[in-house]
Amino acid sequence: MHIKSLADNLNIIRERISRAALRAGREPSAVRLVAVSKTHPVAMVDEAARNGQLLFGENYVQELMSKAAEVMAPVDWHFIGHLQSNKVKQITGLVSMIHSVDRFSLAQEIDRQWGKLGRSCDILVQVNIAREKTKSGAAADELFSLVREIARLSHVRIRGLMTMPPFFDDPEGARPYFRELKRLADKVSAQGIAGVAIEELSMGMSGDFEVAIEEGATLVRVGSALFGERDYR
Ligand SMILES: *Cc1c(COP(=O)(O)O)cnc(C)c1O
Repeated sequence: MHIKSLADNLNIIRERISRAALRAGREPSAVRLVAVSKTHPVAMVDEAARNGQLLFGENYVQELMSKAAEVMAPVDWHFIGHLQSNKVKQITGLVSMIHSVDRFSLAQEIDRQWGKLGRSCDILVQVNIAREKTKSGAAADELFSLVREIARLSHVRIRGLMTMPPFFDDPEGARPYFRELKRLADKVSAQGIAGVAIEELSMGMSGDFEVAIEEGATLVRVGSALFGERDYR
């Protein structure tokens, strides 16, 4: 069901990103749009790419693999969903960033697989600020020890943090969670851990990306506002 074309949606989202950044006294170019294409066909990825959108986020290993094999445009893939260690191998070398690293054993497997390629994988550590049982993510009080442990791996580079706040009808409800992620990021940075550069904050989705940008997001993960509603999350 399309009321507007994908090109229109892209322009609208880009405009909203710019305005939110400017409102917060930030450069619009400091915020990157991750187009979350999960459940949507390859044709939509291609169409978005033709309209200049080259960064995509996927949640499911199988779906990412089949899309990556079909899309011809030079797109960049980020893995944003819950990741099982035994599936890391399948996305090794295919994605340029993993947003959802929430435990050391997963980081170790990423290190092992990327190491075989002689490359490093950029990752974000996912934090479950509200400690919701249904969501992945390290607890805030485990974050610092987890970052220190991961920082010792030679083929994994911690680039920042990611969070998914609880759902609110009013996007303002998410603001304290975004603010908390920024505070945690500043705290990790202040520890000056070797090899850790906290430059990215992945936060904000279709319903709340503007609030996230006001609170410092550098990567916003937008799906339905761009591609339309999905049958499932
Ligand atoms: C599906 C998903 C999104 C996009 O959600 P929308 O509300 O459709 O924008 C963002 N981040 C993650 C981790 C997701 O699973």
